[in-house]
Amino acid sequence: HAKESGKARYALFDVEMHNAAMKRLKIENDLRHALERNEIKVFYQPIIDLPTGRLVAFEALARWIHADLGFIPPDEFIPITEETGMIHSIGQFILHHSLGTLKFWQTQYPQAKDISISVNFSSKQIEHHDLLSEIEMALNENQLPAKALKVEITEGLLIENAELAQQLLKSLAEQDIQVLLDDFGTGYSSLSYLHKFTLHTIKIDRSFIYQMDHSEEHHTIVKTIAYMCKHLKKGVIAEGVESEKHTKMLKELGIQHAQGYFYSRPVSGEDAKELIVKYNS
Ligand code: C2E
Ligand code: MG
Ligand code: MG
Ligand code: MG
Repeated sequence: HAKESGKARYALFDVEMHNAAMKRLKIENDLRHALERNEIKVFYQPIIDLPTGRLVAFEALARWIHADLGFIPPDEFIPITEETGMIHSIGQFILHHSLGTLKFWQTQYPQAKDISISVNFSSKQIEHHDLLSEIEMALNENQLPAKALKVEITEGLLIENAELAQQLLKSLAEQDIQVLLDDFGTGYSSLSYLHKFTLHTIKIDRSFIYQMDHSEEHHTIVKTIAYMCKHLKKGVIAEGVESEKHTKMLKELGIQHAQGYFYSRPVSGEDAKELIVKYNS
C-alpha cells in the first residue's frame, strides 16, 4: 500500500517537474521573440526629494507582457535573460527606450527639465559588454547630458568581479555618470564597498523601510545607514516607502530621497507624465 502511494506521489512529483520544466522552456523560447513582438515594456517609478516633495528621477523597470501568460515579473524573466545572454539586447533596449522617453518628457514639459532616469544593470550585462561606450552612445543619441542617467548596480557585481567593477565605476565617475548601489543591506553588504568603489548613492533596501515603523531594530539600521552615508558624503534613497508614517520617519532621519508605493507604483511612460505634472507644478 505504502509503496503504491509512494509511487503515486512520485508520479505526481514527476508531472509537476515536467510542467515546470515545460513552462520554463516556453518562457525561454518566447523570450527570444519578446523584443521584436513589442512585449517588453519599460515602466517608471518616481523618486521624490523629501525636503521639497519634488519628483527628481524615475527608476526604469522592465515589464514583460506575454501574449498568453500575461504579466511576467522581472524577477522571473531577468535571471533567464542573464543565463541565455539575452540580457544584452533587452538591457540595451531598456537603456535606449528610457533615455528616449526622458528626452521626450523634457521637450514636452518644463517641469521635467532636471529629471533623471535610473537604469538597472545586472552583473552579467557589465561583465560581457563595453557598457561605457554603449551608455555614451545612448546619451549622445538623445542629446542628453551625463547627469540624465543613473546606473543602478547591486553588490553581486562588486563581489563577483571586483576589478572590472572598480574600473567601470571609475570611468563612469570620470564621465560624471552617477552610480547607485541598489538593495543595500541585503546580501553581503560589506562596508568596505562604500569607500573601495566609486559609488554616489546608496539605495536602502525596502525590507528595512518596510519594518521601520514597528521594529526599533530596523529603524536603528536605517538610521545608521543614513548616518554613515552622510559622513561618507553619499546620497541615500529609501526604497519601498509605503506610508505617510515612513516618509515622516525618513525626513526625521535626514534622508534625502524616497521611492515607493506611497508616491506611486511603477507606471507606463504615458501615465508618468501625470506624475511629473502632479509633483513638479
Ligand atoms: P529593484 O531595482 O530593487 O527595483 C525595485 C522593485 O521594488 C521594483 O520591483 C518595484 O516595483 C518594487 N517596489 C517599489 N516600491 C515598492 C513598495 O513601496 N513596496 C513594494 N512591496 N515594492 C516596491 P520590480 O519592478 O518587480 O523589479 C524587481 C527587480 O527586477 C528590480 O529590483 C531589479 O533588480 C530587477 N529589474 C527590473 N527591471 C530591470 C531591468 O531593466 N534590468 C535589470 N538588470 N534588472 C531589472
Ligand atoms: Mg533598482
Ligand atoms: Mg532595489
Ligand atoms: Mg532588486
